[in-house]
Amino acid sequence: MAAIILDGTRIASEIRGEVAAEVKSMTSAGIRPGLSVVLVGHNPASEAYVRGKVRACEEVGIYSEKHTPSEMATTDELLGLIADLNRREEIDGILVQLPLPKQVDSKKVLMAVDPAKDVDGFHPMNVGFLSTQRPGLVPCTPAGIMEILRRSSIAIAGQEAVVVGRSDIVGKPTAMLLINANATVTVCHSKTHDLPGVCRRADILVAAIGRPGMITREFVKPGATVIDVGMNTIKDRAEFEQFFAGNRKREEVFRTKGSTLIGDVHPEVAEVAGAITPVPGGVGPLTVAMLMANTVRAAKMRRGVPEFSRA
Ligand code: NAP
Repeated sequence: MAAIILDGTRIASEIRGEVAAEVKSMTSAGIRPGLSVVLVGHNPASEAYVRGKVRACEEVGIYSEKHTPSEMATTDELLGLIADLNRREEIDGILVQLPLPKQVDSKKVLMAVDPAKDVDGFHPMNVGFLSTQRPGLVPCTPAGIMEILRRSSIAIAGQEAVVVGRSDIVGKPTAMLLINANATVTVCHSKTHDLPGVCRRADILVAAIGRPGMITREFVKPGATVIDVGMNTIKDRAEFEQFFAGNRKREEVFRTKGSTLIGDVHPEVAEVAGAITPVPGGVGPLTVAMLMANTVRAAKMRRGVPEFSRA
């Protein structure tokens, strides 16, 4: 039987609706959440991501502003900008779009962001809050994965979860959130032995690898939930055929755009999984929705709303 498709676009729009309602009531109480996005240089992919984030802010009513230092910006210049944003009361969230140019010490810049405004959840202080189960700011993509599972009523507690990928941005925080939700979690990476065998243990399989269609049906226990985080662009016709031969909708996209997106999960997995996120339209839309949610959360936490007390 074909897997249930976990519609990330629908879930993200539900979350954005909830965020918009909160922003409205906060704004009428005199607190309008604000997000500053720092975009250095002219990376077309980064520019597109930032456009999407600014548009999302407009839609939910969050104040947003964009800072665009030049490609030649130094670490010190960026540290100066971050210090200004840290000081500004009306700014609740600071997002530094990655990657930064080579001459910039990215770790130093990310470390300089006030953890209370770190809406990406990358600061070691927020990583610590997550691993010790204290309120903090959680990275957006992993937080989005948990929303997909919860809002689709997929059981997590007591289930076997396998996360393929151990990046600081996706794999590790996803594993931590699943542990906190009482799953039994295994984290895999490029040195894991018998990856298909380990993945087949999973009731919930998360693929965050960055390799087009790597997770084939032999990695998946029948009926498992598969979350595909990968976002890979295919431009080569032969590679396209390997994954999407006979798929008329994809053929149309490929013909008009000259490329198509594929996740880390092979399309054939939809025939064995119980539920699966599509690419596009799965995890991707949640990332921006959770950025909006994190900005509202930061605005509340900075003002000492009791539900976020760490005492
Ligand atoms: P990353 O930093 O490159 O990490 C990739 C991970 O996959 C690493 O831990 C690596 O293992 C592991 N890996 C690579 N090849 C492997 C193999 N053959 N077998 C097993 N493990 C392997 O990537 P990332 O930033 O986590 O992103 C992962 C994917 O998610 C990318 O496609 C990215 O575009 C996508 N992504 C999507 C969103 C979204 O909003 N949907 C957000 C962020 C990222 P080692 O540690 O051993 O090298």
